[in-house]
Amino acid sequence: MSKPTLIHKARKRFGQNFLIDQGIIQHIVRSIRPKETDNIIEIGPGKGAITSLLIDECPNLQVVELDRDLVPILLAQFATYPNFKIHQTDALKFDFGQLATEQPLRVVGNLPYNISTPLIFHLLSFQQQIRDMHFMLQKEVVDRLAAAPGDKNYGRLSVMTQYYCQVEWLFDVPPESFRPMPKVNSAIVRLTPHQQLPYIADNIDHLKQLVTAAFSQRRKTLRNALKPLLENFDGDIPLDLSRRAESVSLEEYVQASNAMTQQSTTL
Ligand code: SAH
Repeated sequence: MSKPTLIHKARKRFGQNFLIDQGIIQHIVRSIRPKETDNIIEIGPGKGAITSLLIDECPNLQVVELDRDLVPILLAQFATYPNFKIHQTDALKFDFGQLATEQPLRVVGNLPYNISTPLIFHLLSFQQQIRDMHFMLQKEVVDRLAAAPGDKNYGRLSVMTQYYCQVEWLFDVPPESFRPMPKVNSAIVRLTPHQQLPYIADNIDHLKQLVTAAFSQRRKTLRNALKPLLENFDGDIPLDLSRRAESVSLEEYVQASNAMTQQSTTL
C-alpha cells in the first residue's frame, strides 16, 4: 500500500494552477466578505490556498474536489473543523441543490479553465438556491460574461448568464500569481442571481435554442443564422432579421423567444 503523501505535483488534466500570491488570495476573500453563518461551497480547493482564509471566517465551508490525491492534504489542514466536508467528485455532475439550507449557497472557485463554461451553465441550473458566486476565470471568459450588445465578446455565454445573474468584473490577476503559471491572464468575477428576473422567458428552452442558433453564425444576419430554427415556427418573431446576433439585447431575445413560445402553443 502506498503511503499518503503530502507532496503533490500539479496536474494539467485537472487544470491545476495553484494560487501562491497571498495578496491576491486576501483580495479574493475580502471581496467575498464571508460571514460566520454563510453556507459556502468551494469548487476545486486544490491545496487550500483560498480555503484556509475562508474557513477562518466561515466554519460551515464544504468543498468539491475531483483530484483524490488532494484529499489528504485538505484533511490535514481542515479536518478539525467539524462541518468541513470534502465531496470528492466532478463538480460538473455535482448536485449543488442538496447543499442549500435555509441559507442559500455562496459558491467560490478558482476554476479549472477547461471546464469553466459548462460548469457555469451547470451552476445556473441551481440559481434559485444560490446567493452569489465568485470565480477566478480566464480573463477572456470574464470579458464574455460581462459583455454588452455590440461588444466583440458578446455571445451565448453573456446572454444566458445575464438572463440569470448580475455580472461584475472585480479585478485582474496576472499569471505570476500561480504555480505553475498559466499562459493566460485571469480575472475575478462576481455573479449574483437576480432576486427577480428582469425579463422572463415563458419557455427557457426556446430562449436557449434561439440564442444558440443566433450566435452559431455570428457573422451572418439573423435571417440566415435562424433559418433552420424558424422553419419550425409558423409566424413572425419581433426581430429585424437583417441584424446580427451581436447587436440584439437580452430583452429583445426574450421577447422573440416568447413570441416563439406563443406561436408553438397556439398551433
Ligand atoms: N483553488 C486552488 C486550486 C485551483 S486549481 C488555488 O487557488 O490554489 C483548480 C482546482 O480544481 C484543482 O484543485 C483541480 O484538481 C480542481 N478540479 C479540476 N477539475 C475539477 C472538477 N471537474 N470538479 C472539481 N474540481 C476540479
